[in-house]
Amino acid sequence: MVVRTRLAPSPTGMMHIGTLRTALFDYFLAKQSGGKFIIRIEDTDQGRSVPGAVENLLEMFEAVNISHDEGPFLNDDGTISERGDFGPYVQSNRLDLYKKYSDELVAKGFAYPCFCSSERLDEMRKGQVALKQTTKYDRRCLSLTAADARKRIESGESYVIRLKVPEGKTEFDDAIRGHVVFDHHEVDDCILMKSDGFPTYFLAMVVDDHFMNISHVLRGEEWVSSTPKSIIMFNMFGWDVPIFAHLPLILSPDKKKLSKRTGDTAVEIYFKHGYLAEALVNFIGTLGFNPSGDREIFTIDELIESFDLNKVNSGGAVLNMEKLDWMNKQYLMALGMDDIALRAAPFVSAEMTDVVKRALFIERSRVSRLTEFDDALRPYLELQAYDPAILVWKKADAADACAQLERMLALIETLSDAVFSAVDLLESAVKEYITREGLQNGNVLWPLRVALSGQEKSATPFETLWVLGKETSLERLRHAVAALKT
Ligand code: GLU
Repeated sequence: MVVRTRLAPSPTGMMHIGTLRTALFDYFLAKQSGGKFIIRIEDTDQGRSVPGAVENLLEMFEAVNISHDEGPFLNDDGTISERGDFGPYVQSNRLDLYKKYSDELVAKGFAYPCFCSSERLDEMRKGQVALKQTTKYDRRCLSLTAADARKRIESGESYVIRLKVPEGKTEFDDAIRGHVVFDHHEVDDCILMKSDGFPTYFLAMVVDDHFMNISHVLRGEEWVSSTPKSIIMFNMFGWDVPIFAHLPLILSPDKKKLSKRTGDTAVEIYFKHGYLAEALVNFIGTLGFNPSGDREIFTIDELIESFDLNKVNSGGAVLNMEKLDWMNKQYLMALGMDDIALRAAPFVSAEMTDVVKRALFIERSRVSRLTEFDDALRPYLELQAYDPAILVWKKADAADACAQLERMLALIETLSDAVFSAVDLLESAVKEYITREGLQNGNVLWPLRVALSGQEKSATPFETLWVLGKETSLERLRHAVAALKT
């Protein structure tokens, strides 16, 4: 079987992380067998469409470096173009197709026109609620004769087309949830075509999934109850039914349904918070699915290779933000000096000088997110005012701190540019001196580190020497000596 998966978002806002997870699973599944992953924009509910939503979706795809095979693409100038073997994948461009298949269902007696006003439907629903019945269309218009219905349509009366749900039940094997059964008593004669000529999701999805040769429908579990309607229609048309897989909810860190109130829902916000695309793909792409028990870090190729729809957990997947921070740190640690500068640049207010680049390289092991760099850089760019008492190591006194710093001043004056070119050379030079002079590490390294950084907690003195360079290092040491002497 040729695997063809699709992401079918409605453009109702910024891309949601649940959408990203569905997209990643779609992508892993398609790519592991050389299949195709496509994007289809489901904009048939025009009132809910939000300007900029499609652009945001495509930008997020670019940001995570995932490309789809067919459907809408973002041009360099920000406009949207449509490519694909099966025509443009924006549903509002395909209205004639849906009309054709709605007409076919009506002609075959599988669907019928309904003229009920919204007031009547409201009344009907209230009555059903009062009687504690399932709320669904009571089929009043099903009893109209074809001639009557035609007359009312010709006279210009507004109407919709409804699915005539047959007697019986629908059963299917969900790749994640297992065997699912729906009795048709629970299934509503849903609207397929609205009075404005737009199809509803129910009809458009079936027509599109058929003509786009979709093999697997992956989507959030909130869509399970619409699956019998889809399967009923696939059968009415005599079309193959795709494999369905309903992904469990993503839960907020406090295990509630993820919403704007309980956590960050938009993919874009995660980038704004300083997460790297690779970390986000690793994190979201393993939400509810882990290729192996004892590992957390996977490249996208490894995820593609090991993805298994049948191993996706059916229980809700909780967002563990500490884990995301940890993962992000692993990816930060793997970046080289130029890469880290490139990634951090949008988050850093300082000019990207060599000192800043070196500081970023050192500090990447001490931060979790790119947004933390601006604060982390400050002590390198300018010595912050500090209490000279912090220069004194716990097992020493001010006089000793001062004496050690004066020794360091003298030593560092003598160090060549070559020694300043690498942290480990600086470390060896200082440590050899300590051994040669019979000194104690703590007595020397504590005041040295604090004098260089101006901070009680900071990177090692060798790292800080390397970042600051010889001149600034000497200045800071002189400043510390002077502070201890006053
Ligand atoms: N348009 C639906 C949504 O916005 C897609 C459901 C599906 O994938 O079938 O989530």
